[in-house]
Amino acid sequence: MRHRLLPDGVSAQDVQAECLARMARRESTGIQSNVLGLLVVVLVMGPSHPAWLVGGFVALRLSVLAYLQVITRRVLNLNPPEALAQGLGQRMVLGLAASGLTWGFLAWMLADIPNWALQDQLMLMLLTVTSAMALIVTAHLAQGMAAFNLGLWAVAGLRFSMEPLATSWPFLVSLLVYLVVLWLFGRQLYSQARDAVIADLRNRHLSAALEDSNAQLQSALEQAMALATKDSLTQALNRRAFLERAHLEAAAMQRDGSTASLLLLDLDHFKAVNDRHGHATGDAVLQQACASIKACLREVDVLARWGGEEFLLLLPRTEMAGALQAAERIRASLERAQHPHWPEGLALTASIGISPWPAALPLEQAIGLADKALYRAKSMGRNRIDIWP
Ligand code: GH3
Ligand code: MG
Ligand code: MG
Repeated sequence: MRHRLLPDGVSAQDVQAECLARMARRESTGIQSNVLGLLVVVLVMGPSHPAWLVGGFVALRLSVLAYLQVITRRVLNLNPPEALAQGLGQRMVLGLAASGLTWGFLAWMLADIPNWALQDQLMLMLLTVTSAMALIVTAHLAQGMAAFNLGLWAVAGLRFSMEPLATSWPFLVSLLVYLVVLWLFGRQLYSQARDAVIADLRNRHLSAALEDSNAQLQSALEQAMALATKDSLTQALNRRAFLERAHLEAAAMQRDGSTASLLLLDLDHFKAVNDRHGHATGDAVLQQACASIKACLREVDVLARWGGEEFLLLLPRTEMAGALQAAERIRASLERAQHPHWPEGLALTASIGISPWPAALPLEQAIGLADKALYRAKSMGRNRIDIWP
């Protein structure tokens, strides 16, 4: 059968595998109704056929159904490509061929019911209906369709060829036409079923790809946001992001009339750390110092890397007493800070200048005051805190 080109991301195997899975799903419900059908067969055939024949037929039919049931279960328990790889598709086709054969035998037995008026016509119609039903059940498996119908009509044909048919030619011709229509219908059914499978697989592929690229976009966005707002070495805010946050804080202070504090912190003799231990160690120490500072802060406090080894801190709704406490916590924690990777004997201290930042004072001026306080702390001997004014 010719098919149109498969869309990107959908392979012929995927389509085959998914078709097999859908076929199995439909077959599993068909099997149960078949058992009921067998009961009817026994009731109809019982009086007119020897018990061994009816019993043999029931046993045969039950084994075919059991075989199909096992294959169906296995297909449904595996993921579709695996089921296909294990050859369950071929076995399903085999089972369907056997099922068709047993239906043919049923026709044979029906034909042998004595004194049954119109039996040939009735049987041919029954077989045709069976064919049509099989097409629906096997819509996803073209080979299965063919196998079932070949099995069915081979046995039935053999039976009919054994003695003249008790039916009229017009009936036979219309039946033939009907079978051709059925065959065309089967083709159409299979092609539609396959198209639906392809469309579903394509959608699945597209939504997976979409999810993938969404995740990539999201992480790229997060990276870009981090790059735009954070200092890459210490992960503290950069100047621009700090100014934005301070701007928001200024608006909040205008509203509630609160005062914030600014702390300008500069590591002492940091040049010596670089000179003595190398720039790479200097970087690591900077990172660790920043982490230590952050650990001393509240969630609402804002920490930015203001320059090389200089950090600016904004403590919202914090008066001088609170700012002094925070500064002392930070100073002491840096003095204590030790890190497994730090060189032996490295002593790290910082000087901190504090300025209050009331709503009325422009930020630049408040920073200038904190800078003055820092300068004084440095000149008074470092590792200390000063306030201005
Ligand atoms: P002071 O106590 O007066 O602040 O002395 P200092 O040595 O810390 O001050 P100075 O301004 O003379 O030197 C700052 C040093 O900080 C110089 C520079 O090499 C170092 N520094 C600035 N940024 C970085 C950085 O990103 N990584 C490293 N490893 N060092 C840095
Ligand atoms: Mg310094
Ligand atoms: Mg400095």
